[in-house]
Amino acid sequence: MNGVRVRFRFHDELNDFLALPKRNVEFEQLAGVTDTLKHVIESLGVPHTEVGSIAVNGNLLPVSERLSEGDRVEVFPHTTPILLSHPRFVIDGHLGRLAAYLRMLGFDTWYDRFADDVLLAQVASTEERLLLTRDVGLLKRREVELGYCVRSDKPHDQLCEVTRRFALRLRFAPFTRCMDCNGLLCPVSKDEVKHLLPPHTRETKNEFSRCQNCGKVFWRGSHHARMLGWIQDLTACQ
Ligand SMILES: [Zn+2]
Repeated sequence: MNGVRVRFRFHDELNDFLALPKRNVEFEQLAGVTDTLKHVIESLGVPHTEVGSIAVNGNLLPVSERLSEGDRVEVFPHTTPILLSHPRFVIDGHLGRLAAYLRMLGFDTWYDRFADDVLLAQVASTEERLLLTRDVGLLKRREVELGYCVRSDKPHDQLCEVTRRFALRLRFAPFTRCMDCNGLLCPVSKDEVKHLLPPHTRETKNEFSRCQNCGKVFWRGSHHARMLGWIQDLTACQ
């Protein structure tokens, strides 16, 4: 026989990724003798990026381990926020507003709405960026080490999820990065940009910044005030 019979039990929100009969129960699973825990767990539907810890017969083991006949495996989600030394993201093409919001909060965020799965996984790997997507299959790709499966389909709730999961709130640096292109913003004098401003803005505004990458000019308007209130709301995301 080339397989081993083991028993699995997934905990808490990891059950959302399983087929219905396997949720919240212990079940038997046939695994190949050369299969790693990562392989078996992902074949059941759970991306490794969502797994916090694994206990086999009560002992914590890494996802690279293999299984033996009769093993009992418990799989737990992350229970505390994941701290990133340098939070940098790559965002799936379907999450454009989330990408813009992360940039608005100052986070280095790679986004191309036309990027396919191969390119997204490649950017995540080569640039060591954390991949945010709602596509479970994409998180299972070999190249993807850091990732998160975004649950909500509402951009504000998505940002709340990501803020909580990666403890981002104290690292917000609002209005330091271009929402359009991810370039860094630099203060500029009015004289430097006044020829680019609409007449009303030229008369009423005095502080400006400019994207070092695409050259777009920004100033504080009603949009800015609304965003500040909105960022304040994110304090509830802890
Ligand atoms: Zn820009």
